[in-house]
Amino acid sequence: MCRIACLFLALFASPLIHAQPTDVTPIECGNCARWNTPQQPFRLFGNSYYIGTRGLSSVLIDTGAGLIVLDGALPQSAPLIAENIRELGFELHDVRWVLSSHAHFDHAGGIAALARLSGAQVAASTRGANALRMGTVTADDPQAGYGMGNAYPAIEHVTEIVDGGTLTLGNTRVRAHYTPGHTPGSTTWSWQSCEAERCITLVYADSLNAVAAPGFRFSDTPARIAQFYASIARVARLHCDIMVPVHPEFGELFARLEQGSDTLRFVDPNACQRYATAARMRLQQMIANETVSAPAPNTR
Ligand SMILES: [Zn+2]
Repeated sequence: MCRIACLFLALFASPLIHAQPTDVTPIECGNCARWNTPQQPFRLFGNSYYIGTRGLSSVLIDTGAGLIVLDGALPQSAPLIAENIRELGFELHDVRWVLSSHAHFDHAGGIAALARLSGAQVAASTRGANALRMGTVTADDPQAGYGMGNAYPAIEHVTEIVDGGTLTLGNTRVRAHYTPGHTPGSTTWSWQSCEAERCITLVYADSLNAVAAPGFRFSDTPARIAQFYASIARVARLHCDIMVPVHPEFGELFARLEQGSDTLRFVDPNACQRYATAARMRLQQMIANETVSAPAPNTR
C-alpha cells in the first residue's frame, strides 16, 4: 500500500511544493521592470559598496568580521544582488545581517531570499519588524489601502533595533535613526567608513516621500504630519558625507559614478539637507492638495 502511496507522493508531491511561489517569485508592478534593471556594483567609500539594481538601492558593508547588507529590493532583485556580492569578490555566506529601511515590497521584497541564501539574520525598527513578519504593510501605513498589492515574502525572525540603537559587527557600528512618515517603521541608517587616514559618515536614507493609497489623507491626522516633518528635519541634521537614498534616482549617485574614479566623488556633505528640503516641499504640496480636494468617501 505504501509503495503506491509513496510512488504517488514521489511523483506529485514535490512538483506541487515547487509550484508554490518562492521568495524570488517576481512581483509585478508598473515600475518593477525599470527598477530591476541590473547595475554593476561599485565602491562608495572604504568598506562600503553599492550592490543594488539601477532603480532600487542595496548597500554592502565589509566589516572585517562578516558582511552587512542594507535592503533587498524586489524579490526578483535578490539574485542580482547576490551576484553583485560575488562579483565584488565576497562570499554570500559571509553576510551576517540584512537591515531594512522600510517594509514595502520594493525594498523588503528581496530580504527573505537574501537571508535564506546567505544564512544572515534580519534587523529592522520595531514597527518595521512587525510588518516584515507579516510580509505586508501594517494597517496604519499610508499605502495600506492597496491591500494584497502590498504583499511580499514574509520574514519569520526579525531582530528589532531601537531608535538610536546600533548594530555592531567587526569594525563597523551601524546606527538606526527612526524616520517615520513614508511608513510607520521607516528607518535611516548611518555608519562610519575609513579609507587610509580619512573617515567619513555614510547615510542610507529611507524614503521621505508622502505617498498614500486612495482614501488616505495625511491631513486627517495632525500628529502624523508633525511626526513626518520631524523625520525630515532629523535627516537634514544628520552628519552626512555620502548619502545613498533607497531610490537612487532621488540622489546624485549615478551622476557622480560617471565622474571618474576619484574615491571622494560620492562625498557630498549637503546631500541629506537637499534630500530633506525636497521631501518637505513634496509633503507640503501633498497636504495642500488634500486641503483643496474634498475628502474621499470612507476616509479614515
Ligand atoms: Zn515605500
